[in-house]
Formats: sequence, structure tokens, C-alpha cells
Amino acid sequence: MTRHYNFCAGPAALPAAVLERARDEMLDYQGRGLSVMEMSHRSPEFVAIAEQAEADLRELLAIPDNYRVLFTQGGASLQFSAVPYNLLGQGGRPNFLNTGIWSKKAIAEARHLVGDVHVAASSEGNGHSAVPRQEEVVLSDDAAYLHYTANETIGGLEFDYIPGSKEGGPRRPDGTEVPLVCDMSSSILSGPLDVSRFGVIYAGAQKNIGPAGLVVVIVRDDLLDQARGDMPSLFGYKTLSEAGSMVNTPATYSWYLAGLVFDWLKSDIGGLAAMDALNARKAAKLYAAIDESGLYANPITLGSRSRMNVPFVLADASLDAAFLAEAEAAGLLNLKGHRSVGGMRASLYNAVPEAAVDALIAFMADFEKRRG
Ligand code: PMP
Repeated sequence: MTRHYNFCAGPAALPAAVLERARDEMLDYQGRGLSVMEMSHRSPEFVAIAEQAEADLRELLAIPDNYRVLFTQGGASLQFSAVPYNLLGQGGRPNFLNTGIWSKKAIAEARHLVGDVHVAASSEGNGHSAVPRQEEVVLSDDAAYLHYTANETIGGLEFDYIPGSKEGGPRRPDGTEVPLVCDMSSSILSGPLDVSRFGVIYAGAQKNIGPAGLVVVIVRDDLLDQARGDMPSLFGYKTLSEAGSMVNTPATYSWYLAGLVFDWLKSDIGGLAAMDALNARKAAKLYAAIDESGLYANPITLGSRSRMNVPFVLADASLDAAFLAEAEAAGLLNLKGHRSVGGMRASLYNAVPEAAVDALIAFMADFEKRRG
């Protein structure tokens, strides 16, 4: 059996240790004589799995007690609608930072629901090559919350700061605070996080959390009572929270695997500070290799470069197909850039080992020598 290095943007690489454990527990979970996949979500065995996963996530991210953690479904995309439904019960307009494709999708869904939104800052003007600076962010007088995408998975653009002040959330022009909402799908758990800065954090699981089919939402409890009356009940953070995320059948196996990933982060990696250092090293060496080469280029401004998704282009695009074919033959999978932008993209999520990055850098240098 050979496991290749997988640079997919999502569903993404999972830690081999997690897959091995899932394999060992597949047919007979801890002597119960059945698989986790076959258990009732209300069985004591599964409830224990679910509670342990939440406890481990709370420990990893040091989530304060006044936050609820939800394990829900519908992808991060469903949260593009769920957020405005949950937060706009008292009116006001959603405010957004626009840094690329995923921000725009979130904006479009909010617009679909409420008609009008305010874009408080945008990187459109620089071709989404640098995140807006804090002082460029201007909320509307009627802002209900500020939404941003911490890491643009396709563009490879990542915030190097949390919008708003340390003392509270972002502020309207009159100085009053609004909750900060963050799509953290492709950067959650890549390092330590001050959760107290946020009103709502959500993330699709299929990058740094586990398999697809699960979404983690972390919501401050004072925001549970601000939903619109016409909200479909399954969208509701309060409803989900009161039911322990079991309003209906949850994505039990993905939840279990997420729990194994959290345990791996704690036990094998040593927590998020250690993960942070490893991720910084992986990204730094790949960007350095790109910057020093004559064949490869990354368009993002220093300081806004994503640690998780590294897009790059070849100076001669006619070499793209050969690059991808040879990379795949060398066991380096899924380096093709998103269909909307082309070029290449190497996703360096938590489960992508440093050895994978070393192998990619060596391959890129060799390819450049032969073909560049
Ligand atoms: N937001 C971001 C930043 C993403 O990267 C993605 C998926 N790549 C999504 C939202 C949408 O996630 P899903 O496919 O789970 O709806």
C-alpha cells in the first residue's frame, strides 16, 4: 500500500494515524460489536463520542464557556444563509469584507435573503492580492454584523489580523459594536485563536477538521435569540444548541472522525501552538522556493499570503499539463488550481506532512531544471 502526498483543497488529506485508528475501529468499535457508522446517534456510545469531540475542540481552541459549539450539516455554504437568518431578527444590514470568491458567495446569499448588504471593504481593487487593512474597513450605520472570510481557499489570500479591536468587535461609525462573523473553513485549527473576538465562527469540516458532511459552528450565546421569525428551524443555532446538535440525524461518522482528528492534534501534534509552528515552516519554505525560482510565481502580497492554500503559476502555461502529469507520477496529487483561476494550488492543511512539502519543492526544482 502506498499513500501519496495529497495537496487537495478539500476534501483534503487526513492524518494517516487517524485513518489507521478508524480502520482498526471500523468493524467493532471498542468491543461493542458494531461500527460507529451503524450506531444510533442517541446511543450512549455515540453521545460519548460526540461529547468527547466537543470537549477536545473546546480545549484545543480554548473556547470560552459562553460559546456554544454546534456540529451541523449543509456545508459552509449553508451558513451563508444561516448566518443572516440567525442574526437579523432585529433588522440591520449585514456588512462584509470582500476578499474573493468565497466572500462573494456569502455576500450573494445574504443579498438573496435581505436584498441589500454593505461591503465595508474590498480587495477587488488590487485583484484580491492583499487583504484590506483595518483602517479601510468602514461599517454602515445600520450594520448588524461584519462577516469576513479568514482564508480565501481559491485565491490564497489570508487575513493576518482579526478585524475589530481587542476590546470588542468591529464598530459602526457611531462607535457601537457589532458581532464579528467568520468563515474559517480553510484555516480553523491551523493555529491558536482568540475565540472571544468573534460572535460566530463556522467551518466546513473537509479541510482541517475531518471528512465532508459536517460543519462546525461556534456561536456566542447572547446571539442565540436574534433570529428572524421566518427561519427554517434546522438553520437555528438556538434549536441546534438546545438539542445537542441532534435536531435530526447528525453526520455521525464525520463527527466521530473529527473527534479522532482533534485527539490527533492534542496527542500527536501537541496542540495548536505546535501546529502553528509546523504550518508556518511548511508555508515559508514553499513560498521561498516559488519566490527564488525563475519558473513559478505567486501573486499575493507578503502578509496576505495564505499558509493553507498556495496558488502558483508557471511562467510558461503550456507546461502546466506536463507539470501536473509528472507531479502525479511522482506521487504528488491534486496540484491543479481551481477551475475558475487555473494554474496550480498546493493546499498545506494540518494533515499534510512537512515531508510532503519537501517532496513538492524538490519536484518543482527538478522540473524547472529539466523543462523551465
Ligand atoms: N468557504 C470557504 C472558505 C471554502 O473554502 C469553502 C469550500 N471550499 C466553502 C466556504 C464552501 O464549503 P462547502 O462546500 O462545505 O459548502
